[in-house]
Amino acid sequence: MPAAGAAPFAMQTAESQSVNAACWSCGCFVPAGKPWCDACGKIQAPSEGVDYFTVFGLPRKLLIDLTALERNFYRMSRKLHPDLYAQASPDERQWSLDQTSLLNDAYRTMKNPIARTEYLLRLEGVEIEAGRSEDGKPKDSRVPPDLLEEVFELNMQLEEMRMNRKMGEDDPQLRADLEKARTQFESQLAAVDTSLESLWTRWDEIVENASAGAEANKIKGEIIALLDRRRYIRNLVRDVNEALEN
Ligand SMILES: [Zn+2]
Repeated sequence: MPAAGAAPFAMQTAESQSVNAACWSCGCFVPAGKPWCDACGKIQAPSEGVDYFTVFGLPRKLLIDLTALERNFYRMSRKLHPDLYAQASPDERQWSLDQTSLLNDAYRTMKNPIARTEYLLRLEGVEIEAGRSEDGKPKDSRVPPDLLEEVFELNMQLEEMRMNRKMGEDDPQLRADLEKARTQFESQLAAVDTSLESLWTRWDEIVENASAGAEANKIKGEIIALLDRRRYIRNLVRDVNEALEN
């Protein structure tokens, strides 16, 4: 990452979908996505179609330096803050609001590794429609094959727990079983995260290699499958938590 204060946009070039522009005030070249002009310092209108990686001057990679990201975010926030533009022209006031809101959205997505991964996949043309698959059924209803037995068992236990509650009964053994199931699912979640991390590393390694298209597609597919699995297990943990809380 560049040192604080240096332009963080040097790395962003050909990948950007948005176009470079000339500064509205001094006419100097402003790279796509850059919120201000380096020559005169004036704030710019947000570039159309700018993506969150470009906002932070980052290449489309999955592992990022979170400390540098945060530092960059606060530095840019200060520079774009609407209070600084209270006396500026109506256009500049509006742009500072727009740029600030874009920056906040970008930071929220980029600092979370799962949100960042889903976002990158979407940029890569993958349809991630949270919760719905093509047949209109909730995605979460598709049980990962290796979990079929455990999910079946869990659903029986959850049903029993609900019945008990209705009858005002408490079954300590059932409670213990559900807690055990939760621990198991949580360790499966941790395993998913470990697998995801190694895929992120592989993605970052090959993404600069233009001839790695097939490999990139394979990794993409594996990441999508893991994200589905992760979502599914998280919902199971949520169901168990709800059952245990009541
Ligand atoms: Zn300028």
